[in-house]
Amino acid sequence: MRYHEFQGLSVSALGFGMMRLPRLEDGRINRPAAREMVKAAFTGGVNYFDTAYKYHDGESEDFCGEVLAEYPRDSYFLADKLPTWLCETRQKAEDIFSEQLRKCRTDYFDFYLLHSVDEEHWTNIEKLDLVSFIKEKKDAGLARHIGFSAHCQPALLEEIFSRYGDILEFVQIQLNYLDWDYIDAKELYAVARKYNKPLIIMEPLRGGMLAELPSEEAYNILTAATKASGGASVSKASYGLRFVDQLPGVFCTLSGMSTLSQIEENIAAFSGAPLTEAELAAIPQAVSKLRSDIMIPCTACDYCYECPSKIKIPQIFKLYNNMAAKNFIPGWDSLSEMYAELGPNAHDCIGCGNCESHCPQKIDIIARLQAVDQKFAEVIAAHE
Ligand code: SF4
Ligand code: SF4
Repeated sequence: MRYHEFQGLSVSALGFGMMRLPRLEDGRINRPAAREMVKAAFTGGVNYFDTAYKYHDGESEDFCGEVLAEYPRDSYFLADKLPTWLCETRQKAEDIFSEQLRKCRTDYFDFYLLHSVDEEHWTNIEKLDLVSFIKEKKDAGLARHIGFSAHCQPALLEEIFSRYGDILEFVQIQLNYLDWDYIDAKELYAVARKYNKPLIIMEPLRGGMLAELPSEEAYNILTAATKASGGASVSKASYGLRFVDQLPGVFCTLSGMSTLSQIEENIAAFSGAPLTEAELAAIPQAVSKLRSDIMIPCTACDYCYECPSKIKIPQIFKLYNNMAAKNFIPGWDSLSEMYAELGPNAHDCIGCGNCESHCPQKIDIIARLQAVDQKFAEVIAAHE
């Protein structure tokens, strides 16, 4: 296991995100199976465990408290997060914090974060001055290091660090090689580096998609680079994890693991050789192949705007691509609501072909709209 330094602490490069633990049929955590995973994590050198108030509907913290009590308190770092959107008052934040300590069976958190800071939640965070709330916890020795998980635009991250950079010690952002050039990952990372803030990374495998890498050609590009570097073959996940790990400033990469084999695979990724230059150079090519294989190559040019049925074609394709990048696993937002908000869809298409005749990307829009509609129906049926 590789370790990175954070303020004199030696933190395992791999952190165990406790939000996708194995479940029983009734939805509760399968504690014997999850306990084995934690044991394997300790054996493999993992010393960072990350939970949150909302993970597993509140059961994650309770499980962490139960299982981690079996290990010496100074043998691991425990991270927890304040659900800022549930804090109507500071008293509510106090109540939640006390509940978290109790559930986690600890006197302190090693890392404590404002959870899910975005433009919407930031208003409430500012109103209640929750930054000073977690600072008070740090001053009281109840939270040894404080930061936040960011789901915001780079502009807000910049504002937060410019105003609270002397208090907030680190930031957790979503970053992976698929998103690096396509959403704000690179910009968010650059802002953190500008303020010299250490980073924890979440979703390094894009919700598991990069562990599956649903494009054989993309995988072949990566394995060819590994071979050219003289390396032995590695897992698909290894590329995603090692890509994140080689970024300066990143001191822990979280993976929300669900099986023992994922733990073993991920520990191997952080125990073997770091990403080589040849592998790093191959990643953009693999991303390009991955995108062309699984996504709709719409550039949102809007040349197809004169649809008589008023179908918002680029917006529908964008939603599809976002879902594809998440391996069609919806997050907290409802896919059915997002799809409905876009208005007319494939069902309203009259097949006039006007859109296809204007599309510079030569996308078979009519068929694609139908395929998107069918895929969304399957995802909604499975998850909502
Ligand atoms: S073929 Fe369908 S999507 Fe394309 S312009 Fe005509 S109605 Fe709109
Ligand atoms: S014309 Fe083609 S590329 Fe442009 S927005 Fe429409 S579907 Fe996308």
